[in-house]
Amino acid sequence: MTAIRVAIAGSSGSIGTQTLDVVRAERDSYEVVALGVGSSVDVLIRQALEFRPKVVAVADPAQRARAQQALPFAEVVADLADLADVADVVVNAVVGFAGLPVTVRTLIAGKRLALANKESLIAAGPVVQPLRSVPGAELVPVDSEHCAVHQCLRSSVASDREVSRVVLTASGGPFRGRSAASLASVEIAEALSHPTWKMGPKITIDSSTLMNKGLEVIEAHELFGTPFDQIEVVVHPQSVVHSMVEFTDGCTMAQLSMPDMRLPIGYALAYPARIGTPFGRIDWACLGRLDFEQPDTVTFRCLPLAYAAGRAGGTAPAWLSAANEVAVEAFLAGRLRWPQIADVCDEVLQRYEPGADTTVDDIIAADARARSIAAEVITIREAS
Ligand code: MG
Repeated sequence: MTAIRVAIAGSSGSIGTQTLDVVRAERDSYEVVALGVGSSVDVLIRQALEFRPKVVAVADPAQRARAQQALPFAEVVADLADLADVADVVVNAVVGFAGLPVTVRTLIAGKRLALANKESLIAAGPVVQPLRSVPGAELVPVDSEHCAVHQCLRSSVASDREVSRVVLTASGGPFRGRSAASLASVEIAEALSHPTWKMGPKITIDSSTLMNKGLEVIEAHELFGTPFDQIEVVVHPQSVVHSMVEFTDGCTMAQLSMPDMRLPIGYALAYPARIGTPFGRIDWACLGRLDFEQPDTVTFRCLPLAYAAGRAGGTAPAWLSAANEVAVEAFLAGRLRWPQIADVCDEVLQRYEPGADTTVDDIIAADARARSIAAEVITIREAS
């Protein structure tokens, strides 16, 4: 059997390094042929010396020469989207909207896209959807909830007609059960300490506001075509049930495993087969209990904001995602308080200007417009 050729865009981050863990455990099945980073060139060099990829991409021009010097066996390129040319599967683990070119180029190349970069699908749904029908192109989600839904849907023959509800689980993040008043002045470190998942800073802050879950509602709509009225969110603090699908006969399928991102990564690499390494294996005797509760949409306003943007469609999800990225950056820089992340997203959405959404450039323009309004809103808030 020839090994499946894997490219990782965003290899220095949390998903990127965990993808390398999966490959390390499954050396006979997978070969790393390409790695790409923004500017974390030291991590890239270490990874490349171990995995010997043919191509490495470094987006930051100031760091590129160092990669070239340290890795004489690899071709060094500037564009992470070029990685799709040499691989069978591209893991898109770039953070935020910057991952859009990798998503688009991978699908155009007719390759499998293992998508951890949800923002590209959410912001550019109208552009990405038609590319899914390029011959050979295939989108397999790496997001744990959508990986769960993907698995639950495999139990149904005609999934679109037989599904009555998709139920996305949410850990609730570090602030579950807290009141809005008690969250007025939380520290950055508190928002960065997730109770069940070990993830990068952007998604960890998104988990604390429930924006991550809101974006995942839009992601589920894009991936599976489920109407928003049929997508529900339930808080499940143990993060063992990764999501569920209820069918028209009342049966619910759920996918359970311990919270370990290497399971959805391995699933996306191996689908429709499964890897042999048991990441996320449950010890039932120690599991104890599984709890479920309604999300608090008054304290965590980002969740209803995402439903609203998703239902508005067009470039509204791009606006929301852009506003959120700018607000999270400002929070991490100490320029915004935690509740103001939702305030900024809300205000930017109120100023939403529907625009063209048929090309990548349309989406980039929408993203830029929303970012400039978000920056303006933040500056005004800082001054007041
Ligand atoms: Mg998720």
